[in-house]
Amino acid sequence: MSSAEVAAKAVKSIEHEEFKILTALTELLRNYESVTITQLATKARMHVDKAAFSINKLNQMGLVVKRTRGYSLIMAGLDALALKILVDRNIIIGMGSSIGVGKESDVFDAFTPAQKILAIKFFRIGRTSFRDVKRKRSFSSQLHHWLLVNISAAKREFNALNILHKSGVMVPTPYALAKHAIVMERIQGSRLIHCDELKDPRHTLESVLDNVRLALKVDLISADLSEYNVLYDGSDVWIIDWPQSISVKHPNADALLKRDIQNMLKFFKRKYGLKYELTDALNYVKG
Ligand code: ADP
Ligand code: MN
Repeated sequence: MSSAEVAAKAVKSIEHEEFKILTALTELLRNYESVTITQLATKARMHVDKAAFSINKLNQMGLVVKRTRGYSLIMAGLDALALKILVDRNIIIGMGSSIGVGKESDVFDAFTPAQKILAIKFFRIGRTSFRDVKRKRSFSSQLHHWLLVNISAAKREFNALNILHKSGVMVPTPYALAKHAIVMERIQGSRLIHCDELKDPRHTLESVLDNVRLALKVDLISADLSEYNVLYDGSDVWIIDWPQSISVKHPNADALLKRDIQNMLKFFKRKYGLKYELTDALNYVKG
């Protein structure tokens, strides 16, 4: 089972006090890699015996691990906490199938109380270094570090999506942020790399450039634009994956914007034989 599957299952059976402990453990994460039962009980304002009972159940569910000096949160625990927050806020009621396993995320269908389908993205930056965390103790401090990195990456992408969406850039509408997870509009389309037919490749490329231009007007450069991060739904393009986006004031802004544009131009040239001058494209998006 993936950590999100462990979490989705746990969210159904987890009790109020267990969530209080999971929340306390996550709040203590900023300062501690692992936490004792006494620390948890104090933080959660709970009797030590109850805290011990709850943390033991979380351990059995595969949401935390026991260390020499207490307990540590693992990815499945953070997933469960994010899901529970989203369910309690009535944003979603459950998760569906996987729609994308990226380098740095797991994306799933999610269902709203009104049975609408949205997408939920769990950040997994550093995944390869925390895969073996249960076996290799030395990974504990790395995992701790990556959990925090993922929480802040989700926040950065959510903020960027809000700005971009308000400015009319074609990005999934952002709905909610919880820990290292974001809930957004589910785009019914596929990545450009997997689109065999485009009705009008030049028009599609120009739509991407239009969006880059609009994003630039609100001071955002994707810095990860490629045929993997553009979805095509049969008529429109959608630009996804913004956690690493930067401001035009960033010291490497020019180089990264150039690389973004070059990635797109190279792809359209290779796949559709389309010629578009880099300087023309750059002048256009900066204009
Ligand atoms: P990563 O950093 O892991 O590449 P992405 O944001 O690119 O993260 O998401 C990974 C994959 O999940 C995408 O390539 C895409 O197939 C799918 N995906 C992401 N967001 C959405 C969405 N809003 N609607 C539909 N599919 C999505
Ligand atoms: Mn991506």
